[in-house]
Order: sequence, then C-alpha cells, then structure tokens
Amino acid sequence: MTAKELREKYLQFFSAKGGSASGGKEKGHAVLPSASLIPENDPTVLFTTAGMHPLVPFLLGEEHPSGKRLTSVQKCIRTGDIDEVGDNWHLTFFEMLGNWSLGDYFKEDAIKWSWEFLTDEKWLGLDKERLAVSVFAGDNDAPFDEEAYNFWRDLEVPEERVARLPKKDNWWGPAGKTCPCGPDTEIFYWASDEPTPDIFDSENKNWVEIWNNVFMQYNKTAEGKYEPLAQKNIDTGMGLERTVAVLNGKNNVYETELFAPLIDKIKETSEDKEDEKSIRIIADHIKTAVFILADPSGVAPLNIGQGYVLRRLIRRAIRYAKKINMANNLAPLAEIIINIYKEQYPELAEKQNIILGELKKEEEKFAKTLERGLKEFEKLEEVTGKEAFNLFSTYGFPLELTKELAKEKNIFINGEEFENEFKKHQELSRTASAGVFKCGLADASDEVKKLHTATHLLHTALKKVLGDHVEQRGSNITAERLRFDFSHPEKMSPEDIKKVEEMVNEKIKESLPVKFEIMPIEEARKFGAIGLFGDKYGEKVKVYSVGDFSKEICGGPHASNTGELGHFKILKEEASSAGVRRIKAVLE
Ligand code: ATP
Ligand code: MG
Repeated sequence: MTAKELREKYLQFFSAKGGSASGGKEKGHAVLPSASLIPENDPTVLFTTAGMHPLVPFLLGEEHPSGKRLTSVQKCIRTGDIDEVGDNWHLTFFEMLGNWSLGDYFKEDAIKWSWEFLTDEKWLGLDKERLAVSVFAGDNDAPFDEEAYNFWRDLEVPEERVARLPKKDNWWGPAGKTCPCGPDTEIFYWASDEPTPDIFDSENKNWVEIWNNVFMQYNKTAEGKYEPLAQKNIDTGMGLERTVAVLNGKNNVYETELFAPLIDKIKETSEDKEDEKSIRIIADHIKTAVFILADPSGVAPLNIGQGYVLRRLIRRAIRYAKKINMANNLAPLAEIIINIYKEQYPELAEKQNIILGELKKEEEKFAKTLERGLKEFEKLEEVTGKEAFNLFSTYGFPLELTKELAKEKNIFINGEEFENEFKKHQELSRTASAGVFKCGLADASDEVKKLHTATHLLHTALKKVLGDHVEQRGSNITAERLRFDFSHPEKMSPEDIKKVEEMVNEKIKESLPVKFEIMPIEEARKFGAIGLFGDKYGEKVKVYSVGDFSKEICGGPHASNTGELGHFKILKEEASSAGVRRIKAVLE
C-alpha cells in the first residue's frame, strides 16, 4: 500500500456516511485540509506538532464550523525528536492521520473504529497477531482506565497484549497547569521478522507505536484535582510513515516510498554508503527544511525562531553530508522531495525556486564560515559558553553542532554556562515539539482573546489604509502582544502607521459587538469575508464580524465586544521576508 492510498483510505473510512456493512454506526467525519506548519495564533510552539494542534480552540469548546466529527492528514514537525532521528521510526517531519470527536462519540467508538480500520481486510488488513495496545494503569490522581481495557478485550485482544502503563506513557495532559487532560491508549505493531512474542513488552523496540487515541475527559484544576470534563473529546494520531512501513513489511520508515529515492540518491553520490545513520539524518533534515521553506509564512534561515530551526536543520545536514563525503549539493535532494510530495502538497512545486534558492544561499553562507570556524574550533582545548556563542555568532555553528564536534574531537566542554545556554536552546526546540502534545493547550486567556480581536481590526485597517493587496501571511499572539505579518512591498510611512492605529482605536471606542456565523465558503466570499480561502475540502467556515467594520474567516476565540480592548498601540513595523512586513502591537 502506498502513502497516497493510506491517506485516502483513512479519510474515506472516517468520513463515510451511513453505517458499515457489519451494522456499525455512522462515522461521518468532516475532512479538514492540512493546516500550515507554522501555527497561527499560538505562541507556545514554533511548529504544528500534531493534528490536534490547529483544533485546540475547538477542543476547548469553541464551535467548529464543520461539526463535531473531524478528520485530517496533518503535516507535523517535532524538532524535539531530533536526537532520535536516525533510528527506525523518529522523524522531524511526518504526517499525522487523525480523527476527532468534539464532545460527541467517546472511547467505545474510537477504539472499535481504530481496530476496524487497522485489521479489516477492506481497510488495512493488518495481522491481529502482530498488534498490541497499552492503557492507563491508574494512580492517585485518576483510576485505571478500565473502560478502555474492556473495549479492547471485547475485540478479543488477549489480556497479555493489553499493557497497563503509568502516566508517563499513557496520559496526555498538563504538568502543573490547569488544562483538559486524560488517559490515552496506544496501538503497537510488531515490526520484526522474529516471531511475535505472546506478551506485549513496550520496552522491546520491535514494537512500534503506530497510533494513539487520547481520551480528554478530565480537567486539572488549580488545586491539582482532576474533575470530569463537560465536553469529553477524542483526539487520535496515526503516523503515516510508520504505518506505510509496517503495511509493506519494512522495519523502518526509510525504506518506504516517502524516503527510498532520497536515500538512494544520497548513497549514489557519497563515499561512505554504510553510514546509515548519517544518511538518514541528511534525508530527514532536508525534507523538513523543504517543508518549512514551502510554508506560506515565508520562513528563511535566521538566528531566531523558526528560521533558527531551519538553519540548524540545513547546517546539520550539510555537516553529515561532509562526513560521508557526499559529492553533490542539496538541490538534487530537494528536487526529489518535491517530486515525492507535490501531488499531496502543491505548495512545494509552486515554491520550488524559492526552496532551491534559499537552500543554495544557506549552503554558501555555511561553507564560508564552516572552514574558518573549524580551524578556530580545533585550537580550543575546552569549550565554554562564551566560546560556544562566539562560534555561533561568528561562524554560525548551531550549539548542538558544537557539542557534537567537541565529542567527536575529544574536546572538553566546560562550564555550566555552556550547559545553560545549550539547555535554553534545547528548550526552544522542545517547546516547538513535545510541549503542546503533552498539553499546555494554547493560552486562551482574556488577554489573548482581546489581542486576537485587535488583530482582526488591524487586518482590516491595513487593507483600508494601504490597499487591497494586503493579505495575512502569519499571526502570532502571546498574552503580552500581537504580531501580524502581511503582504506589502515597502516600509509603511509613519503617517500610515498613525492612520492604522487611529482607525483601530476608533473602532475600539465604538464598542462594536464581535459575533460569528457558520456558513458555506462560497457564501463567506459573497459576504465579503477576508481570510484564508484556500481550503480544499473545508465546506463550511466560521466568519467572525466586528460590527460592520471587519468580516474574517477564523476559528476564534475572541473578545465579545471591542469596548473591552483598551488602547491599541503599534510598537514596531519591520520587514519579515521579501514582500512581507511585520507589525508588533499591544493593548494598553
Ligand atoms: P514515540 O513514543 O514513538 O515517540 P509519541 O508517543 O511521541 O511516539 P504521539 O505523540 O502519540 O507519539 O503521536 C501520535 C503518532 O504519531 C504516533 O503513534 C506515531 O505513529 C507518530 N509519530 C510521533 N512522533 C513521530 C516522529 N517523530 N516521527 C514519525 N512519526 C511519529
Ligand atoms: Mg515521541
């Protein structure tokens, strides 16, 4: 089975109308398009790390325009997994197949449908003998998930193949914060030629996790109590690459059609063809870089934020390419990746020139500094935080590269300072990953809601002052400020900035009500709503209006009246990337 078939089957299975032949219930999930890799309006992470990520407001209770049952194929990036890349199963870029219930069906249907999809001959037809599952064992906070256990047993999964694991393995949710949370159940496949053991031991690496079903059923209160949630949700995620691998009898993701041509190309042009780990790292990192570069937000290699992650990935790939003496540069690899994915993700082909151009620029920049940097590096007897930073700022050595090089060359790394700096950067990549999936659901505080409404006012004011060419390119809101990226060819004049500011403040003073309506996308267009119209499948959308001033397609949440907003102030207007400007603003 190909990746394309698997994506299609998954969406078909969950969107099917009517019951199944075996008398099953109607599934009827609405198919959502993959959201951008750079999350909109979520300051807690740099990248979309799971299919649930774009759905956070709806998991917290906002009404979704497509209903209570949703399914998608979502592009994900987990830079927090970077140290595991090279093993058989962990990638920094992967696709997640997911299905959600927003307060609709719960454990029984979720578990039964997972099993049906995996094992029924009509669908994936995986061998039941090679499957095992885990459920939450229970502790002082919440009981053993007996319900999930019993539903698996009803499906005749043997007792010794249902592992009971503690919070660290089978719980999704907050550490210390208040937040929806709950147990999960994970599904594993025996990906080895060895006979499948009767007893499921999750420590045995031949068992690969392919699918996770999360049961959001508790709310952790400020006092640390776990109370039942009013809206119980299902949130599942199945790894596309892992599942394609096991469906084709492979014991790693690199032998699937999503990687094989890339691996072949790297081997073909490299001297050291046996260094499997380096080859995998190059393939993984370049793929992730290509997808970041293709994102509509226009990220370029930089020393901060997503641009820093991009730079690190490209430079780390180049260094491993040197290690195995790869002859060619990155362009032929990027072309292969674009080819593999262009049908599913047309943005890759559309942005081919930008992708290849940015890769080339970064390769040239790095080549210039790498040699000089290596010379400096070799002079060192130990590396302190200061030196690590010097290497980073002068020669563009990402910190973990410094750490890896030091290890290779037996150079002593000294000083808490270095560790602290290193940890800070690791933290950065981790928040870009595990952070959100282990909860920390986006901050839907009142401050964030107000800034979100202010962003809509700003968007419309920019269009009115600068012209209709202004389109949103990105948005990021923290409790302290908003950041808005938009298309505009030149720096804004101080007069225009003032005009925009005044227009927004005028609308705040008018105390306009903020309301939403759900409507078909064509109607939204007729209605004059601005916002992202690119949805392939999204039939219905949510349109937020602020009085008569602004109409915008958006998931929410928002303030209920502009009168709550206070005083709007633009702090900064600057270039973000070619043809894109960035505004930072606050409410005082
Ligand atoms: P693991 O324990 O293997 O790292 P996880 O518990 O982090 O997986 P989830 O967060 O539950 O995984 O994500 C849901 C599914 O997404 C997993 O079952 C797996 O199939 C897939 N997945 C997760 N992380 C990766 C990754 N780094 N590369 C490829 N697929 C992944
Ligand atoms: Mg993981």
